Amino acid sequence: MAALTVAVLLVSGAAMGSVNLLVDGVIRPGASRWVYAATMALLVAIAIPLAVRRRIGRWTTLALVLTGDLVYLVVALSIADPVLYATPLMMLFAAFVAAWFLDGWMLGLHLVVTPVVVGAALWGSYDNTSGLLVQVCVNAGVLDLASAGVFVLRRRIERLLASTQQLSLRDPLTGLGNRRHLEEQADRVWRQARRDGARVVAMVLDLDHFKQLNDAHGHAAGDAVLCTVADALAATVRPTDVLARLGGEELAVLGMVGDPVEANRLAERLRRAVAAARTDAGHVVTASIGIALVRPAEGEEPRDGLWRLLDGADAAMYEAKQAGRDRVAAVLTARPRSAPVPDAGDGEASEVA
Ligand code: GH3
Ligand code: MG
Ligand code: MG
Repeated sequence: MAALTVAVLLVSGAAMGSVNLLVDGVIRPGASRWVYAATMALLVAIAIPLAVRRRIGRWTTLALVLTGDLVYLVVALSIADPVLYATPLMMLFAAFVAAWFLDGWMLGLHLVVTPVVVGAALWGSYDNTSGLLVQVCVNAGVLDLASAGVFVLRRRIERLLASTQQLSLRDPLTGLGNRRHLEEQADRVWRQARRDGARVVAMVLDLDHFKQLNDAHGHAAGDAVLCTVADALAATVRPTDVLARLGGEELAVLGMVGDPVEANRLAERLRRAVAAARTDAGHVVTASIGIALVRPAEGEEPRDGLWRLLDGADAAMYEAKQAGRDRVAAVLTARPRSAPVPDAGDGEASEVA
């Protein structure tokens, strides 16, 4: 995006500037015409690799912005009367690129360079210093204000985008991550588990008899219980675990463990944390928790693996419900009894904990 924008601006600037070569009396006689033509050709030469590679770093952008400022000076000095034929407005190209693509201090540098370049460009056009000063202030002031305005606008847009992205990953009621957040984190968890030779564990937590609680005490009381449970779980999971609300009264935890025993221990901690949580109105709830584990296979798509694992954990959670609720159950492999039990490293979808 930045590379293409800069390339388009360079070529547009060169095209507009080249028109002056066709009008008699605009460019100073002598060597200036060649300097001017070479400068326009240089702009196009810089634009071509940018458009082809479509990549540009911050430092290159800064260098090009300052080159843009310098090019305006060359143009102004090559032209018979810059006031008539080379308005400082030409520096708007560099001003907008600086405002949209550069960091604060880099833009600051451009803002300082602008009045210096405008002053040098208009130097020969004014007899009196005060007239020159006023014109430098007016022109550089307009350019710098436009640049600063675009920069402020860009910052606001960036902040708005960041907060929108944050919101799109959060559950509005509990403040926990949502499904999208869980999916986004799967890549990291899978990568880390492969690197450390660990297993990925998914737990599905479903609150017990939540409908009864809603019916007996109202939806607001149910919401308060959900928030209290979310806070209790957030305080109990390990820092690297991902805690998310899947929807309704179902939550999930994704993390890494060395073995099924560790997964069970963590699930038990979570179960006790839910049972111990109490809202201000004194409402309590329990949870049934299903666990599934996997050793991530090479080349496996983490998001597919995540949903397979959650399906396993969901099945285990259902078994915990069947067994009487307020308990932890691990998924049983769906494979026939006669088939060999996979060893820990086979990367199958789920294991017996
Ligand atoms: P079980 O132990 O079998 O899970 O029973 P349950 O009542 O928890 O399960 P069921 O699926 O029958 O009911 C889930 C209830 O969760 C129904 C719905 O009203 C409630 N619920 C879902 N989302 C919310 C929410 O955001 N706020 C509140 N207050 N209730 C919710
Ligand atoms: Mg449910
Ligand atoms: Mg439930």
